[in-house]
Amino acid sequence: MNILFLTSEAVPFAKTGGLADVSGVLPRFLAESANVSLIMPDYATRQIRELAPTVVATFSVRAGIHAFPAVIRKLSVSATLTIYFVVNDAFFAREFLYGDSAGDYPDNFIRFLFFQLAVLQFISDQGLHFDIVHCNDWQTAMVPLFLKSEPWSVALGRAKTVFSIHNLGYQGIFPAEVFAETGLPQRLFSPEYLEFYGKLNCLKAGIIFSDRLVTVSPTYAMEIVHADQGFGLEGLLGRFACKLSGILNGVDYSLWNPEVDPFIPFPFSFHSLEGKAKNKTALYGELGVAKESHVPLLVMISRISAQKGIDLLLKLLPELFQQEIHFVFLGIGDREWSEQLQVLAGRYREKMTFLNRFDERMAHWLEAAADILLMPSAYEPCGLNQIYSMKYGTVPVVRATGGLEDSVQEFDPATRRGTGFKFRGADVAAAAAAVRRALRFFADRDLWRQLQKNGMEMDFSWAKAVRQYIDLYKKALREEPCHG
Ligand code: ADP
Repeated sequence: MNILFLTSEAVPFAKTGGLADVSGVLPRFLAESANVSLIMPDYATRQIRELAPTVVATFSVRAGIHAFPAVIRKLSVSATLTIYFVVNDAFFAREFLYGDSAGDYPDNFIRFLFFQLAVLQFISDQGLHFDIVHCNDWQTAMVPLFLKSEPWSVALGRAKTVFSIHNLGYQGIFPAEVFAETGLPQRLFSPEYLEFYGKLNCLKAGIIFSDRLVTVSPTYAMEIVHADQGFGLEGLLGRFACKLSGILNGVDYSLWNPEVDPFIPFPFSFHSLEGKAKNKTALYGELGVAKESHVPLLVMISRISAQKGIDLLLKLLPELFQQEIHFVFLGIGDREWSEQLQVLAGRYREKMTFLNRFDERMAHWLEAAADILLMPSAYEPCGLNQIYSMKYGTVPVVRATGGLEDSVQEFDPATRRGTGFKFRGADVAAAAAAVRRALRFFADRDLWRQLQKNGMEMDFSWAKAVRQYIDLYKKALREEPCHG
């Protein structure tokens, strides 16, 4: 099977979030049983430049009345994995991927339209054949439509398309005027197709024209067809539910494993949990927290955005601070929420530390040192930290939504099964009760060790997800897609 994987970011080349983790790892695993080509923009990052990929094509891409120069660089990773970079420095050699502190880059539509058209022209010119074209998020969502339209349908139309939605909160919505740049028939700019309340919605192209639709957890796939999680696309997604499924992301345990993690001061395993305790003592020392190591440490490692349930957290923390705990928040993002966290940390100086920065080492150290990880997300397509935390013997307390619902099982002391604690809805009392349940078991050494063991034994490695993706591709090749 020949697979083309299109993405706007992938580790280790360029990353803003979970999409990069998935795009960097999934194609590598797929390449164990298929021929995989990954293609992404060349952001001229140090990681790309150091590898010096070879120039294999130079051409011009037409978009509307404009023409833009494109160069394709190629990196052969193995016999079955090739990475291509689409180069246009005016579009991609910028400090950030999608925008800076002033907001999104104003030319984002044309940047990613160019990227998609360059990919199509390149594979058409080179006569490359793909069975599956796997697109991700709005930046590549027009490709399933282009592949069904002239002139690309003639050269490339046999390929089946799979479209992944990593976060429905980002749809690629632009003013109506830019539609002309696509060269597509005007009839496609209508509410039935790409129009969305008078604007162009790129994600709609992927939803309507792909052969298979997939999200990053089964529960999120069910949630997005309902109004409260559908971001206005619930009706359309409901129409195409017949081709929609969810596959939980995997974890790269070569990066997230307390036995070999280079970022943590004291490596440990379930059989040497005293190492975990040492990480906590060392962390309290580093942060200047004058507390005994038996004081429960709760942490949150997160982008600061409405999605992550910061409003709920701000109401929850004063309740939690009635008990003897310490809470550390590591994260950056929305300015207003950040200021409110800062104010709270000032008010509860003895109980809370706010680390307002992006710090990979600290993210690992907190996972290793903490007793409890909080994730009160309003919605969570998959979520990774709750999965990492289990491997580090840190018990997740989560809102039961999306991937959090799928990856955390409520602990039952009677059967001694389960990996964490869950609550439903934006209910402060329910969230506080879930944390209190966790703290009650924390006081019972035997039950807490059982909880830690249950989590540490869970296996969220990519192997299972990769099998599910291969099955999905086979299904796309075998079965006619539904038409909604
Ligand atoms: P999302 O992709 O919605 O931001 P995920 O839980 O899927 O959320 O993934 C977030 C990733 O980013 C995790 O690997 C997490 O450790 C990391 N991360 C988030 N904030 C920070 C931060 N301030 N410093 C270091 N790593 C962070």
